[in-house]
Amino acid sequence: MKAHDGMYIDGAWRDADGRDAIDVVNPADGQVIGQVPAGTALDVDTAVRAARAALPGWSATPPAERAARLSALRDVLVARKDEIAETITAELGSPLKFSQAVHAAAPIAVAGSYAELAATYAFEEKVGNSVVHHEPIGVVGAITPWNYPLHQIVAKVAPALAAGCTMVLKPAEDTPLTAQLFAEAVHEAGVPAGVFNLVTGLGPVAGQALAEHPGVDLVSFTGSTAVGRRIGAAAGAAVKRVALELGGKSANVILPSADLAKAVNVGVANVMSNSGQTCSAWTRMLVHRDQYDEAVALAAEAAAKYGDRIGPLVNAKQQERVRGYIEKGVAEGARLVAGGPEAPREEGCYVSPTVFADVTEDMTIAQEEIFGPVLSILRYDDEEEALRIANGTVYGLAGAVWAGDEAEAVAFARRMDTGQVDINGGRFNPLAPFGGYKQSGVGRELGLHGLTEYLQTKSLQF
Ligand code: NAD
Repeated sequence: MKAHDGMYIDGAWRDADGRDAIDVVNPADGQVIGQVPAGTALDVDTAVRAARAALPGWSATPPAERAARLSALRDVLVARKDEIAETITAELGSPLKFSQAVHAAAPIAVAGSYAELAATYAFEEKVGNSVVHHEPIGVVGAITPWNYPLHQIVAKVAPALAAGCTMVLKPAEDTPLTAQLFAEAVHEAGVPAGVFNLVTGLGPVAGQALAEHPGVDLVSFTGSTAVGRRIGAAAGAAVKRVALELGGKSANVILPSADLAKAVNVGVANVMSNSGQTCSAWTRMLVHRDQYDEAVALAAEAAAKYGDRIGPLVNAKQQERVRGYIEKGVAEGARLVAGGPEAPREEGCYVSPTVFADVTEDMTIAQEEIFGPVLSILRYDDEEEALRIANGTVYGLAGAVWAGDEAEAVAFARRMDTGQVDINGGRFNPLAPFGGYKQSGVGRELGLHGLTEYLQTKSLQF
């Protein structure tokens, strides 16, 4: 796709305030594939004003009409799904098949779900002698990362628009072409001018200006815990609402009664998918000591199969960061059983699918989010120890439990401090609330819970 050299504000592509641009690079070969403008605080201000001006009209638009626009948006995403997948492959580096099956398909499902929710949600309810109105919060500032570029945009824009909010999006600097394509789709879907606005730019400039803008009523951020903490602090000081989707270090707990080969194979696939750049990835595999050696051998074998199947990491900085973590794992005494720090190819930001055995809880690779194709396998003696290890990080985003008996897995899952748990390989549900316990974040995305994040209540007494 061709890059726009302006910002999508108030229903049209407008010249950016400054002259600075951001190069978009294909991480598979280092080629520059486009340029987008680097937005300034003035661009952000113009966009927020447009969103503010559009708010009275859009918030008063009947939910059925908002639903119709979301349904049209879904249809445009369907019509342009090949272009979406190709764009994401070009700027993120994920294999085309994965871009089609996940990066393009998930946002279509999510947009469709909010078209339905907007049409069916009870925006008004009766509580005793009160009528409670669920009203839009106002202007939303959305800041998104690069790892699931379109999914993370749609997981914010669709519920915000369904709720009657207007918004400004600042997408990640690595994947702005996907965001521009999305803005075209919003336009084609007939969403009125000013309801959705796009400002591309650098995080510390455009992102920060958006997060701190007094005209923004809710900041919804997905990305690193370091930036999320600052955004949360600024929002707290301004007494504005904030939603944070941050990092994870999720545990894949394989109980002794589980189908070991299946649990290990699905577990490795989960970590390697999207080159390990998934906040909810099960990056810690917990195995009973009696099955440990067998699990390690199975995991090493499974990881070796991914050699040619995973794409590069998003950029050279992430590649260096991940290789640094692998070196640290070796230095701290973990045992490499697949992959390693050496780049598997000369060209592109590739990292080998890597598996560490003999990982202990205190190691850096067992505690910090690596965001690459790196799995740590830890040993436990009994269920209580497995639970303590599973809950023993600052994060709590996702997880998995495998057991011969579903009830046994559920009982364990209920004791985990985490927002999502997949039981015996349960599959992704785009309607289930997604979000973190502890430092994995504040708030929930997707489905009904994702919609209510963008609403506030007003009670009228009779
Ligand atoms: P990041 O947090 O720096 O970037 C995420 C978004 O925030 C981007 O749009 C960025 O431009 C913006 N941003 C950056 N600084 C900002 C600021 N001061 N104010 C406002 N917005 C700002 O994440 P990253 O550098 O792209 O990735 C670093 C690490 O973050 C990864 O290695 C990974 O651990 C984690 N991460 C997590 C997720 C997730 O889904 N939870 C997604 C991406 C990255």
